[in-house]
Amino acid sequence: MSKLIVQKFGGTSIANAWCIKNVAKRIISYKKKGYALVVVVSAPGDATDDLLKLAHSVTNDPTDRELDVLLSTGEQVSMALLSMALNDLGYQAISFTGAQVGIITDKSYTKARIININSRRIKEELKKKKIVIVAGFQGINLEQDITTLGRGGSDITAVALAKALGAKMCEIYTDVDGVYTADPRIAREARKIDRLSYDEMLELAFLGAQVMQSRSIEVAKKFNIKLCVRNSFSKKDGTIIHEEAKSMEEILVSGVAVNRSEAKITICDVPDKPGIAARIFREIASANINIDMIIQNVSHTGRTDISFTIEKTDLKKAVNIVKKMAKKIGAKNVLEDRDIAKVSVVGVGMRSHSGIAAAMFKALAQKGINIKMISTSEIKISCVINKKDAVKAVKAIHKVFELQKPTRTRKAK
Ligand code: ADP
Ligand code: ASP
Ligand code: MG
Repeated sequence: MSKLIVQKFGGTSIANAWCIKNVAKRIISYKKKGYALVVVVSAPGDATDDLLKLAHSVTNDPTDRELDVLLSTGEQVSMALLSMALNDLGYQAISFTGAQVGIITDKSYTKARIININSRRIKEELKKKKIVIVAGFQGINLEQDITTLGRGGSDITAVALAKALGAKMCEIYTDVDGVYTADPRIAREARKIDRLSYDEMLELAFLGAQVMQSRSIEVAKKFNIKLCVRNSFSKKDGTIIHEEAKSMEEILVSGVAVNRSEAKITICDVPDKPGIAARIFREIASANINIDMIIQNVSHTGRTDISFTIEKTDLKKAVNIVKKMAKKIGAKNVLEDRDIAKVSVVGVGMRSHSGIAAAMFKALAQKGINIKMISTSEIKISCVINKKDAVKAVKAIHKVFELQKPTRTRKAK
């Protein structure tokens, strides 16, 4: 399709009737310019959180299958209301659930992956000049069960549809002007970033910048789909996310991210023998728990401590497994720490410049913030600190790299 755009509107953009009408007008302005439009919607406002609470008011342990049946209903509300609003303004629109438009996923409920999209129905409706509205965050597996794509998963619906339909552009509409140098709710001085590479956005999203879901960026990168993150309440330009360009390397640090949803487990006094770490982490992996950072100290006494971080939601399950393992391998005890935060800096310029880690550590030290764990990759440095220090840390790091200034005027560290 020549002039096809996929637009995705997040929960805040369609939180109430006024917002839905605002979105409808925006969509119509594109329609008037001659674009064919596929619009992906999230659940209104906090609907997904409210549905989760509802599930937990009935049982402490809802099954993942039933959770998906429940959570998918939030998006169904938005799609119908937006379609009605468009019809009311005199434009033909039609709404579909993920299953109706053939978004086929694997069977892992609550974090399913899209394996195929059968776009026939969407194409038919586009040919009839209709605006097609699709419920984000959901699909159907081969057993015909409803699945959801992980929190923030409407982003991946939009990117995957852009790929399946050959759209030239995928616009992600949200409640801020684009991707910022830090979460604007935490650092008021944060600046909007004009352009970011896929890798930088991938790291920022993975490290806690909730503005985009990290898996959606992986897909966009793989298929080279240009993204634009922008505000549904303003006409400003937004942030373009695309392939890395040479000029991007001059920017040492693009942004700071913080993640407060992880917890740390420490296994104390582990015998320092080959195969022990393999045994512990094999057990955890087989319970489908993802591990983020791991540190093990060099042992001088034949015994050592191993610490690692996981999502807080997996903490109970992981501690139970680790306690059993500790007994088997003769480790002393198991400690858990829920009050951690991970702060990270991200930038492709790190590949070619040194001193970024030193500047980050110094900024934390000057504020008296203790570092509990460190990990690095080619374009990021992360530190685990006390959760109570998270906001202070983001602000200090933001300042040391002069992220509040336009990129041209920042001093190299
Ligand atoms: P939506 O409902 O549109 O999907 P989200 O709440 O998922 O919106 O994401 C938008 C929010 O992400 C913003 O309100 C902002 O507070 C937060 N955010 C975190 N980090 C960043 C960042 N680096 N840039 C922009 N927004 C960020
Ligand atoms: N409604 C889902 C969530 O809150 C999906 C999304 O908003 O992208 O996670
Ligand atoms: Mg989101």
